[in-house]
Amino acid sequence: MEKITADIVVIGAGPAGLCAAVEASRSGAAVIVVDENQKPGGQLFKQIHKFFGSKQHLSGVRGYKIGEQLLEAVEKSGAQVMLDSLVYGLFPDKLMGVIHGGKSYLLEAKRIIVAAGAKENYLAFPGSTLPGVMGAGAAQTMVNINRVLPGERAVMVGSGNVGLIVSYQLMQAGCDVAAVLEGAPRIGGYSVHAAKLRRAGVPIYTSHTIVRATGETCVTGVEITEVDRNLKPIPDTQKHIEADTVCLAVGLNPMTELLWMYGCRFTYIPSLGGHVPLHDENMETTAPGVYVAGDVTGVEEASSAMEEGNLAGISAAQSLGFYTEEEARSKKEQARARLCELRSGYFGKARRESKEKQIHAMSDYISASKTGVD
Ligand SMILES: Cc1cc2nc3c(=O)[nH]c(=O)nc-3n(C[C@H](O)[C@H](O)[C@H](O)COP(=O)(O)OP(=O)(O)OC[C@H]3O[C@@H](n4cnc5c(N)ncnc54)[C@H](O)[C@@H]3O)c2cc1C
Repeated sequence: MEKITADIVVIGAGPAGLCAAVEASRSGAAVIVVDENQKPGGQLFKQIHKFFGSKQHLSGVRGYKIGEQLLEAVEKSGAQVMLDSLVYGLFPDKLMGVIHGGKSYLLEAKRIIVAAGAKENYLAFPGSTLPGVMGAGAAQTMVNINRVLPGERAVMVGSGNVGLIVSYQLMQAGCDVAAVLEGAPRIGGYSVHAAKLRRAGVPIYTSHTIVRATGETCVTGVEITEVDRNLKPIPDTQKHIEADTVCLAVGLNPMTELLWMYGCRFTYIPSLGGHVPLHDENMETTAPGVYVAGDVTGVEEASSAMEEGNLAGISAAQSLGFYTEEEARSKKEQARARLCELRSGYFGKARRESKEKQIHAMSDYISASKTGVD
């Protein structure tokens, strides 16, 4: 089997992976970024809306424009991008199995940065296997990347930012959105996104959930019900909505399979999406030389994914001697300060606390390893 070698291999060419590649490659290291898609950018090229956050983190710029800026930086940095290439296995001694063009290759690196992102949660209910039921991210890929409508009339389950933004983008593409359902008593996403939907006449039913999708061979309707604070259906509140599409926007969970395979240690933090890899302040996991960045470390957003990517790229390059300690220290301090700013304020505070828990779990693991208690 053909073997390709590099100083640093980055798995995933989303915002985290691209930033990691730029920082690592700028140091002079030989860097390869591998992604299963035909185009780099991860989630960014699906995001046609203007990003939120601070000016420093490109708020007000559309996601795909941020993607274009990152691709330009990658090109200038000299990192090699290997597309249409799925990393199917992470094996001892930093060996990776990759499928490209129907052929299997071995990739070998001195350092690995896993920036594989996250995947959508699923929800099981009667009719959930009917054609027409899909993740909100799948619907977003269909309209914004493939220019195909998933259906003519959709019901969105979940009112976080993903549910709200994808609902609006479905409408922009020409699909009616019959309703957005939210089990909690309050809308989960930013009110600016909810207001846009309401102005367009889309009802957002809080304290409501889906009971079943109806239809014989595909979705033809949706039965919904009001729920109490424990998400228990309230009798006699069921309604029927005609729809041919049900989109599920019920959270994401980190794409950690490769890290489990390599034997990295995990901790469970529900607010970050479930099991998340332990890592230190340099983004290095419990497996020496294997780093993580972005949604794979716990679901957040593109701006923090980029800063974690910067940190991982600098740290991996420094560990190989491509950055001096002095150069790396000042670059890392700047990235950490920007991350800290992102994780402050009303919405950021909860994320900062969850991330601090993750770093503490790593410190506990290191102390326990030193004393032999696991
Ligand atoms: C609807 C929606 C709206 C959003 N709006 C915003 C916003 O306004 N502001 C903001 O900051 N964030 C926003 N986000 C979040 C943001 O898109 C993500 O947090 C960000 O893309 C995470 O970056 P990442 O690099 O970690 O992962 P991703 O962007 O998911 O990239 C991971 C890449 O790795 C590839 N990959 C995974 N496993 C493998 C493998 N084994 N082999 C090869 N390739 C692999 C994937 O295909 C993917 O290309 C939004 C997300 C959604 C869904």
